[in-house]
Amino acid sequence: MKVSIFSAKSYDREFFDRANGNQRMDFRYLPTRLDPDTAPLAQGSVAVCVFVNDQVDAEVLRVLATLGVRHVALRCAGYNNVDLAEAERLGVVVSRVPAYSPNAVAEHTLAMVLALSRKIPRAYNRTRDGNFSLDGLLGFDLNKMTVGVVGTGRIGSTAVQIFHGFGCRLLASDVVTNEACLALGTEYVSLERLFEASDLITLHCPLTPETRHLIDQEAIERMRHGVVLINTSRGALVDTSAVIRGLKSGKIGALGLDVYEEEGDLFFEDLSTQVIQDDVFSRLTTFPNVLITGHQAFFTHEAMSNIADTTLSNLHEVVDTGACRNAVS
Ligand code: NAD
Repeated sequence: MKVSIFSAKSYDREFFDRANGNQRMDFRYLPTRLDPDTAPLAQGSVAVCVFVNDQVDAEVLRVLATLGVRHVALRCAGYNNVDLAEAERLGVVVSRVPAYSPNAVAEHTLAMVLALSRKIPRAYNRTRDGNFSLDGLLGFDLNKMTVGVVGTGRIGSTAVQIFHGFGCRLLASDVVTNEACLALGTEYVSLERLFEASDLITLHCPLTPETRHLIDQEAIERMRHGVVLINTSRGALVDTSAVIRGLKSGKIGALGLDVYEEEGDLFFEDLSTQVIQDDVFSRLTTFPNVLITGHQAFFTHEAMSNIADTTLSNLHEVVDTGACRNAVS
């Protein structure tokens, strides 16, 4: 059974070929992103496998359905890039990998926090240059900080456990409360209260029409002066222009981003010999207190193995039964 894997990188091939030990699936690795122009490449496939920046809107779904594609298998947890209503109308199953490694993303969140709090990138560059001065490297303790976690699902609750280990006071905002977080003393508060009372805010809710630009000008104005903001969830949770204003005024004391609202034109590619055309992104890279990684929070050996195994199991399930326990609707 032929499956077209869009946005395929060498590491996808490595993990998917390993998971496909019995060769039941005939994988076609396509380096290109899925969009209306590339969708016809799925000709002859029963399913397509896509990632976070593939375009799975109504137009693309209609092309895929015409070609006979019955299943869109996301090899990620978020599904904000899929028109689920159109998929349902066309009878195309959409599946995802709901929990491949919450630890991978939560641990990356902490890696960003510590890199920012202790100015590790700057220190790394300095010592390589023979500069052992400590001027400009003054950090801060995480212990006793008030950390606000927006979204306490799988990743957010794992982050809560780690922050708890650092001795942080924990606030959370979510539409549902998580017992494990409550047991660690997390206090659920309104989003407004979380913005006002947190020294550090970390985002772990999904991107939906309601959460788009959750961090906007008004939200930033509510925050404490010098707040640390971390986003390892989805770029469009944050209004980047508002955040740049917050950085310039000092309201935001440090910013860690693993995701960016216009990342589709940048991330996962080597653009090191090109001129970056996105001026907003370029401005972000000029701040000494901003750390950006290119959507790599998920990228651990354990997570990649789980992603490949679960995606294979989703593909088999849909072929065998026409349905999937990891379907999203
Ligand atoms: P999850 O579904 O387990 O948890 C999401 C939580 O957000 C839930 O508890 C939900 O109730 C809550 N939520 C929904 N709407 C909310 C709102 N308006 N305000 C506050 N909370 C709200 O999902 P997860 O596995 O923890 O993943 C969270 C997000 O992380 C995903 O949606 C995805 O966008 C992102 N993610 C990023 C990477 C990466 O590599 N950077 C990898 C995986 C997932």
